[in-house]
Amino acid sequence: MDCLSDSFVPVSSILSGKCEGKKVSIRGWVHRARSSGGLAFVILRDSSGIIQCAVKKGVVEEKAFDAAKGVYVESSCIVSGTPKKDERAPGGWEISAADFGLIHLGTPFPIAKDQSVEFLLDTRHLWLRSQKLTKIMKLRDYATRSLRNFFDERGFFECVPPIITKSACEGGSTLFQLDYFGTPAYLSQSGQMYAEVYMTALEKVYILAPSFRAEPSRTVRHLSEYWHLEPEMAFYNQKMNMQLQEEMIVHVCHDLGKNHADLLTDIGREPEKLLAVRGPFPRLTYEKAIEKCRSLGCKIEYGQDLGADEEAALTKEASQPIFIHNHLKAFKAFYMREDPNKPGTVLSNDLLAPEGHGEIIGGSERIWDAAELRQRMEEQNLPMSDYQWYVDLREYGSVPHAGFGLGIERLCKWMFGLDHIRDAIPFPRTINRAYP
Ligand code: ATP
Ligand code: MN
Repeated sequence: MDCLSDSFVPVSSILSGKCEGKKVSIRGWVHRARSSGGLAFVILRDSSGIIQCAVKKGVVEEKAFDAAKGVYVESSCIVSGTPKKDERAPGGWEISAADFGLIHLGTPFPIAKDQSVEFLLDTRHLWLRSQKLTKIMKLRDYATRSLRNFFDERGFFECVPPIITKSACEGGSTLFQLDYFGTPAYLSQSGQMYAEVYMTALEKVYILAPSFRAEPSRTVRHLSEYWHLEPEMAFYNQKMNMQLQEEMIVHVCHDLGKNHADLLTDIGREPEKLLAVRGPFPRLTYEKAIEKCRSLGCKIEYGQDLGADEEAALTKEASQPIFIHNHLKAFKAFYMREDPNKPGTVLSNDLLAPEGHGEIIGGSERIWDAAELRQRMEEQNLPMSDYQWYVDLREYGSVPHAGFGLGIERLCKWMFGLDHIRDAIPFPRTINRAYP
């Protein structure tokens, strides 16, 4: 049989009971196989699920039986037969094969049980076929779809930013520099400033693109390349900004918890944890957060930014995300607007995920007055020439606006209950790895 024909059914439709008693053909990869005497069991995997196939000598042709008996894990194959209920089989269904054919036998698969983390990262291009990573990648897709739907329903436009830039949005220390026809340029750390440009035309926009950070540290929550969702809204203040973030997080948690509970359960995450997320999220000023950290035993002083330890302490016992807002102007980005009611603090907000995961969002109301922006740039010694275009936005019909940046892998790490951010992205880039 030709594997390119469209007469194959997905494994999931067999598992759902729709094909009981009908003759079907499936195609995919060998998940596991064993044989004894005249019986070979081939567990076949396609993108929709796995199912056991019983291939019996005498029932199928000799050549087909020999092929089934000789498969390796991950050989690709075709099976035709009739599905029947079988409680002993994984998923509760078994196909009694009437025919079996190899597409490609291949060579023995290098990944067996109990491999080291490093080995699995070296063979990531093969390990991505594993059930756990397959399910995580599906969930990741469902999460980004859900986020896109959320913004789509609210009249946002998706926009694309440049990746090669001249200016350093989040400060120079974590920039990847490249040679741009003889002059230095950088991989983008954030599309925010470009989102602000689109905002002046389309009002409510978001960017979903990779951001690059030359993070010199090894942590469980930093990648050097990650996917960054950056909404930017005209005529929004800090309060509206936080409200939108809260609604977005509740939306995506409930969407996955309701509609993809099986996948979550399969990867060891309780859907109830996501269904229990609901607003209003606790809101703490930076000042109150410092007091709380100190009462929990952290050594942080007023004036220092919260680090991973403090975020973990604040969120370890929490079941809801927590907003920390009004950070000190002194350590926040130059474009964040100072709070007229609390001078010395900016209209910022971070969102910390519960269960110890920590920061997943950084947001703020932006400075929209040109003179105020110039002054902050001078205070922070930023070269005006790199940012003239950004200041220009405040010269021509400027409006109050706000926005935020969400790290997709940080969100997934929390929602899926992962120990390490590298499992939230197919090909993690970290300080010691850019292969495969
Ligand atoms: P952190 O203090 O945790 O390094 P940050 O303050 O540098 O975060 P922002 O510059 O505010 O983060 O970026 C916005 C969001 O992008 C963060 O809230 C986070 O979700 C995500 N993010 C930032 N850096 C990384 C990274 N290296 N890897 C993965 N996600 C990141
Ligand atoms: Mn950082």
